[in-house]
Amino acid sequence: MQVHLLGTRGSIPSGGADYTRYGGNTSCVAISRDGEPPSLVLDAGSGLAAAGWLIGDAPFSGSILLTHLHWDHVLGLPFFREGDRDGSSVRLLVPDQDEDVDEVLGRFFSPPLFPVAISDLRGNWTTESLAEGTHEVEGFKVTARDIPHKGGRTFGFRISDGESSVAYMPDHSPTTLGPGPHGNGAHHEAAMALASGVDLLIHDSQFTEDEFESRQDWGHCVYDYPIGLADAAGARQTILFHHDPFRTDSDVDRIAAGISRDDVSFAVERTTISLGHRQR
Ligand SMILES: [Zn+2]
Ligand SMILES: [Zn+2]
Repeated sequence: MQVHLLGTRGSIPSGGADYTRYGGNTSCVAISRDGEPPSLVLDAGSGLAAAGWLIGDAPFSGSILLTHLHWDHVLGLPFFREGDRDGSSVRLLVPDQDEDVDEVLGRFFSPPLFPVAISDLRGNWTTESLAEGTHEVEGFKVTARDIPHKGGRTFGFRISDGESSVAYMPDHSPTTLGPGPHGNGAHHEAAMALASGVDLLIHDSQFTEDEFESRQDWGHCVYDYPIGLADAAGARQTILFHHDPFRTDSDVDRIAAGISRDDVSFAVERTTISLGHRQR
């Protein structure tokens, strides 16, 4: 399995010279089998609009899974050029909202907020609600669980191809802070289950300790929470994701310098992680 990072930023895209190395596009991760084009996309942030480097000119055929519907996770949809063309086939899966999925998406993708509806895109697009649980999507085993965030239902995902696995929780903070700093010691049960024994954990790490003091209810966490979660759940590798939009490359470097672990790194846009085969 290969995991491609198309957008690593949180909340709003960041532009300019201070954001070139870790990347300025918002959350989007694509997954492919070895040697095949990506068929599964996790979230549709602005990174999806720049997917050409990965997908090339061919029309996209596959599924897009949304963790939740915040702007930074959907704004790439109408700019997904490889999906918006004749011959494409896109299955868009949205956490069940207890109301019609097209109506919910239509609030954002309709005038006067935006001129284009999802149904206006070329190719064959379908939209579906996704329930919590385990599903088969594009031949991958996908487990979706509700995880605490803020302002709308949010899923975390665990994706497996039978040989390797990745857990993806770009927006998450535990609701109950435990005895350790920033919730360490109180890892959420669903987050633990999704991350248990995975080869790769991709996780929210938006805040520094100082920022968290005044933003504890914003639905995001400090990087030590996913590191503690990875240790508790037995994740082999952790990528810290959803960088704060004002976190410059130098800021990330400075934080990274304080984490001297080979199995933890900060997400870099336009990189690919290959997960090897192992017996399990
Ligand atoms: Zn987000
Ligand atoms: Zn969010």
